[in-house]
Amino acid sequence: LLPGSLSPSGQPCTLGVLGGGQLGRMFVQAAQKLGYACAVLEPEDHSPAAQACPQHIQADYADLLGLEQLAQRCDAITTEFENVPAEALRWLAQRRAVAPSAAAVALAQDRIAEKAHFSACAQQAGVGPAPYAVIETEAQLQAAPTALLPGILKTARLGYDGKGQQRVHTGAELRAAWQRLGGVPCVLERLLPLKAELSVLVARGRDGQVVHYPPQRNLHRNGILALTEACPGSLPAGLAARAVSASALIAAQLGYVGVLCVEFFVIDDGSAEGALVLNEMAPRPHNSGHYTLDACDVSQFELQVRTLAGLPLVAPRQHSPALMLNLLGELWFDAQGQARSPDWAAVLALPGAHLHLYGKLEARPGRKMGHLTLTGSSAQQVRATALAAAAILG
Ligand code: ADP
Ligand code: MG
Repeated sequence: LLPGSLSPSGQPCTLGVLGGGQLGRMFVQAAQKLGYACAVLEPEDHSPAAQACPQHIQADYADLLGLEQLAQRCDAITTEFENVPAEALRWLAQRRAVAPSAAAVALAQDRIAEKAHFSACAQQAGVGPAPYAVIETEAQLQAAPTALLPGILKTARLGYDGKGQQRVHTGAELRAAWQRLGGVPCVLERLLPLKAELSVLVARGRDGQVVHYPPQRNLHRNGILALTEACPGSLPAGLAARAVSASALIAAQLGYVGVLCVEFFVIDDGSAEGALVLNEMAPRPHNSGHYTLDACDVSQFELQVRTLAGLPLVAPRQHSPALMLNLLGELWFDAQGQARSPDWAAVLALPGAHLHLYGKLEARPGRKMGHLTLTGSSAQQVRATALAAAAILG
């Protein structure tokens, strides 16, 4: 699907996206840059993606009439939201090119299936998941190995930003936590001594070609990504190389098409570098890759467009060290809980500050309202600018 070409009906070549969040918005912007028309299917009004896209199909993700419209208008379709019903992607794939596949998205939606895939890849990848047990039944709860305590009980489905997780120290706490989570299928994972968290973004084309960004380092606060540091050379080279090759292998074993983000823990095993553990994956561009918009010659969103449209993939080159700060809803409130507006003028006065706001109409604590990427000529300079930005934002 070449950009700027017309479909047989005379319509411009159109790329569709399921989901109207900020990832959809940035996908649409990258597609438009290459001359594609776009359509967004999203149930909510005023979503970040629909604001950027004249063709908004306002329908539920499982609404067949809405999906039919999307299929009619689009030449190829992707998703920005991993909790779309996999069935919707399967249905669309019978009519149009769809990437990533329903099977890959279904796997990433379910921690049990995801960990099974990681375990299957572990030997070849040289890295596996944290020790874990599946808890779907009362009997599995009773039989949970005490070696997994202290641990984290995570719902198999629909968890994000630390939601659907409970830390447990004893068997009694585990039973109480499973009840509180509604007795739904869960995994119990051992609580690991984290030295750091990393993620790797790979893009894989239909022909199996894989390109990647260097691993970036992530800092979470209250289970939500707070900061990503992408300063080449700041991670041990061996660790970074192992994370990249494991991510490429995980994508290849799935026959994956699209941008895939694989998250890793670095745990303290007594060695200087630490050991890698696979945490989870996201079948789409990822918050930890937003810096690529401003610090790389090809962004993760453009790579998503290229994989979907079957365009050539090129190895991205990072031209500047970068640090990304997530802008969460609490910045829109002062210490007394009164609404306020952050001082964007002061932030924009910082050289190397790239502000991205998603156009969300309502700020809520924990809600991702935008992000700020700082670029500069050295890691040191980028960190200094980030500190200055953080001081302005308060
Ligand atoms: P989510 O889907 O909410 O992102 P994650 O499994 O990535 O769920 O967990 C969120 C965060 O909780 C991780 O980024 C990490 O900081 C912490 N965490 C998760 N699992 C473990 C673990 N086994 N040991 C230590 N910390 C963990
Ligand atoms: Mg996570």
